[in-house]
Amino acid sequence: MNRPLALPIAWTACAALTAFAALATAQPAAGPLLIEHVRVFDGTRVLTDTSVLVEGGVIRSVGANPARPAGATVVDGTGKTLLPGLIDAHTHTIGQDPLKQAPIFGVTTDLDMFTDPKLAAGVKKQQQEGMLPDYADLRSSGYLATAPGGHGTEYGMAVPTITRPEDAQAWVDARIAEGSDYIKAILDDALEYGTAKPTPTLTKETLKALAAAAHKRGKLIVVHIGTLQQAEDAIDAGADGLAHLFVGPKSSPGFEKLAASHHIFVVPTLTVLQTLCGTSFNSELAEDRRLKPYLPPAETASMKRSFNLPGKMSCEGAYEAVRQLSAAHVPILAGTDVGNPGTTQGASVHGELELLVRAGLTPVEALRAGTSAAAAAFHLDDRGQIAPGKRADLVLVNGDPTADIRNTRDIAAVWKGGYAIDRAAWKTSVAKQFEEQANTKSAPPPAGSESGLVGDFEQEGPPQARFGAGWSISTDEIAGGKSVAKMEVTTGGAEGSKGALRVSGEVLQGFAFPWSGAMFSPGPTPMAPANLSSKKAIQFWAKGDGQTYQVMLFATRLGFRPATQTFVAGPEWKQFTLTFASFGGLDGSDTMAIVWTAGPKTGTFAFELDSVRLQ
Ligand SMILES: [Zn+2]
Repeated sequence: MNRPLALPIAWTACAALTAFAALATAQPAAGPLLIEHVRVFDGTRVLTDTSVLVEGGVIRSVGANPARPAGATVVDGTGKTLLPGLIDAHTHTIGQDPLKQAPIFGVTTDLDMFTDPKLAAGVKKQQQEGMLPDYADLRSSGYLATAPGGHGTEYGMAVPTITRPEDAQAWVDARIAEGSDYIKAILDDALEYGTAKPTPTLTKETLKALAAAAHKRGKLIVVHIGTLQQAEDAIDAGADGLAHLFVGPKSSPGFEKLAASHHIFVVPTLTVLQTLCGTSFNSELAEDRRLKPYLPPAETASMKRSFNLPGKMSCEGAYEAVRQLSAAHVPILAGTDVGNPGTTQGASVHGELELLVRAGLTPVEALRAGTSAAAAAFHLDDRGQIAPGKRADLVLVNGDPTADIRNTRDIAAVWKGGYAIDRAAWKTSVAKQFEEQANTKSAPPPAGSESGLVGDFEQEGPPQARFGAGWSISTDEIAGGKSVAKMEVTTGGAEGSKGALRVSGEVLQGFAFPWSGAMFSPGPTPMAPANLSSKKAIQFWAKGDGQTYQVMLFATRLGFRPATQTFVAGPEWKQFTLTFASFGGLDGSDTMAIVWTAGPKTGTFAFELDSVRLQ
C-alpha cells in the first residue's frame, strides 16, 4: 500500500471484480419459520424466553406461545439470542459479490457511501425484482460531492465535482436521477493525515447549499469529515449525519451539545480509524475463531492490510467523542468503511460493535447502533427491529451478546427476508480456497526459472520471457475501462545492453482505478499461480517519462486485489529491487502475475523495463 495518501474512503485497488457478476436467482418461497424459547434483542431492549414467528419473509408475531403453523420450520433458541439483521452504515461496495459475504456474518443491509452509481442501480433493480435473496440489501449515495481534485477524485472515476453553491440543486438532482438514496459530501482537506499541502475540498457555503438542495428533495446528506473543525462546520452547514470521527488525541467538550442540538447522527467508523492509527485490532479480528472459518484468503489479507501514512495518528479523540455523543443521546451508528485496508464485508461490523463498547457504549447500545439506530436514521422503516410486520432479517447467535458483545460473532443462523443464508456452503468454499493456496506452496518452481531471469529483451520481435506464460498487455479494459497500452522491444537497454521493453499508452477514465501496462505471468497460463518462493525479490531496471508507476503483484491469497508498490521512471536507467515480503508480507508462493502499470492517474505515459529477474 504505497499510495502516498489513503483516506478513510480509499478503495483497495480491485482489478476485475465487476467482471464477476453472479447469476441472479429469484427468491424461492420460504415456509413459515418459528424460533422458540429464544432471548430476543428487538432493536431496543431484551426479551427473555420469547418465540418469533416468520411467514412470507415477514415477522408475524413476537411473544410467548404462538400457534405452530403447519409445515413450519421450528428452531430451538434455548441459550441463544435473536438479533435484527445488522446494518453496516458505511460501506464502499464495488461490484455485487461483496454483498454476498455480508449476510454470512449477519449483515443484511449495506449503506454504501460512494460507488459507481450504475453498479448500485443495477444491484438495486435486481433486488427490487426479488433477485439476489442471499445478498445484503444495498442502498447507495452513488457519487459523492467533492471539489475538483478533492477526496474521491483520486480513483480515476469520472466523479462530477462541484465548486459553487448555485450549482448545488442541479448536482443533487443529477444524483437523484442516477438513483442515489441519499447524498454524501466531503469536507476534508487531508492535512490531518500529514500531507504536505491541502487537498481541495468543498467550501462551507457549497456544502450548505448541497444540504439545502438535498433536504428540498427529502434526502439526507451525510458528510465525511476529518477534523473537529470540519465536523462542526458540517453540522452548522446542515448535515444530517457525520461519516467518521476526527482523528487526534482529544475531542472537545461542547461538540456533543452541538451535535445533539442539531439532531444529527454519527457513524464513527472506528474500524477504519484503527487502521489509520496503526493498531493491530483488525488483524486480530481476522483470527477470531468464530469468524476465521468464514473469511476467504483474500478477505483475511484485506483485514491485515494497513494504510501507509507519513506519521502516526491517535484515535483517542474519536473514542472520547463517542462517549460524549452517546451521553448526549446523539444516535451512534455502526459503520465500517469497508473497502479500505483493514476491513472486510460483514465480519468488520462485529469488530465495530466491540470498538463501540470499548469506547464506552453498553452492549445493548452497541447493538442498537448496528440495528434500529441505523434503520431510524436512514428511514428504513421495514427493518432494524424484531416486531410484527418487519422484514425477517434475523441473526441467531449462541450465547448472550448483551452481556459480551463479542458473542455476536458466534452465529448459529442468518435469515434475510426469511430466506435462510447457507453459511455451511460458504464455509466449505472458504476451506477449499485455503487448501488450494496450501497446494501452491508445495508445487515445484516453474521450469526455466532457476536462474531467475525473466527477460533481458536482447532479441528483436515480440518480448520473450524465459519461463511462464510470458508477457502481455494488461489494462482495465477487462473490467470495462478504456485505457490502452502497447509494448515493443526497443534498442538501447540498461547497462549498455542491446534491447529493452518499451511500454506506452494512455490511462483513460472509465473504470475506478484505471490502469494500463505490461504483465508477466509466471505460471503455465496467464494468471495461473506459480510458486516463486525459492526467490525473494523482483528486480528490474527502468527509465521513462518521470512519472510514478506501480508494480502490482497478483497472488491467489489476495483474490483480485493486487498488492502494489510504486517506482518513479526517470530519464536515466535505475535498478529497483522489491522483495515479495514488501508486498504486504507475500512470500511468492502463489504468484499469479507481476504487472508494471501506469494509473490511476489519467494521461499518456511511456516507460522502459530491462533485465527483469527474480532474486
Ligand atoms: Zn468511506
